[in-house]
Amino acid sequence: MDISVVVPLYNEAESLPELSAWIERVMKANDFSYEILFINDGSTDESWEVIKKLQETNPCIKGVCFRRNYGKSPALNTGFQRAEGDVVITMDADLQDSPDEIPELYRMITQEGYDLVSGWKKKRYDPLSKTIPTKLFNATARAVSGIYLHDFNCGLKAYRKKVVKHIEVYGDMHRYIPFLAKAAGFKKIGEKVVQHQARKYGVTKFGLNRFVNGYLDLATLWFQTKFGIKPMHFFGLLGSIMFLLGLIAVITVGATKLYNMYAGNHYTLVTDSPYFYLSLTAMILGTQLFLTGFVGELIARNAPERNRYEIEEEI
Ligand code: UDP
Ligand code: MG
Repeated sequence: MDISVVVPLYNEAESLPELSAWIERVMKANDFSYEILFINDGSTDESWEVIKKLQETNPCIKGVCFRRNYGKSPALNTGFQRAEGDVVITMDADLQDSPDEIPELYRMITQEGYDLVSGWKKKRYDPLSKTIPTKLFNATARAVSGIYLHDFNCGLKAYRKKVVKHIEVYGDMHRYIPFLAKAAGFKKIGEKVVQHQARKYGVTKFGLNRFVNGYLDLATLWFQTKFGIKPMHFFGLLGSIMFLLGLIAVITVGATKLYNMYAGNHYTLVTDSPYFYLSLTAMILGTQLFLTGFVGELIARNAPERNRYEIEEEI
């Protein structure tokens, strides 16, 4: 099979017939063998009934129905596990992404050798309250991940099959799939300018908290990729620096007092010096960070993936 189109959806009943007809049209015109995987993320409208109806007329349509709403990432992950096409294309269900991009995305993966091609909504049809924070968000994601993409969170992306079988999208991590792919060793990540439409039916499913959560998730990913299996290198270093600074400071405070005392100078009590309290705090925090490192190491030792490596070839 050439292409699997994975479509996560939550309450998008009105868009589905139009979307599936459009995908079908593009696939037929280009002679692709394909499947459409609709992942119904616990919709409370009649989306699932619509999908079942659509399947009657097009056997290339497959569906999965979650019992409740889990989120876009769990939906994508489920689609990735089931996808059988050589190229896997993800697309939002709200008709904001255009199926007309599919042939070119397919070509970039199969002929130009990209592992992942991300859409770039260069001209966006979204409210300003979304586009401005998005710019900041993308700049941060670029800096942290080292992947030069303009639009990390574009729903329209294409993957080599191998990529989706080797990454795990969970929580809200769909915003950083290129980062996950890079962490899994897939280096050829490209982007393609794509057409974007304003939402035709329904409402957006993500509020402004997407940006707060987005930043927190980015911090998590950064930590995990860098220190996930060696947390002591992070906590131990910070803890040691803090403890040492505190120790040096407290020795200085004590020694100064003793020196002045024996030299017959005026001296202040150790407990009267603000540095004493600062160094005490630094030493306590340093110890705690160090212990966090130890606890982290014990947890990392038990992680199932602690010794799992992506092996490309073997002879
Ligand atoms: N979506 C989903 N589960 C959710 C929220 C959203 O499957 O809990 C789907 C939604 O139906 C759509 C896609 O994810 O197909 C992108 O959502 P939306 O269009 O609301 O996001 P926006 O375009 O505003 O970023
Ligand atoms: Mg949308």
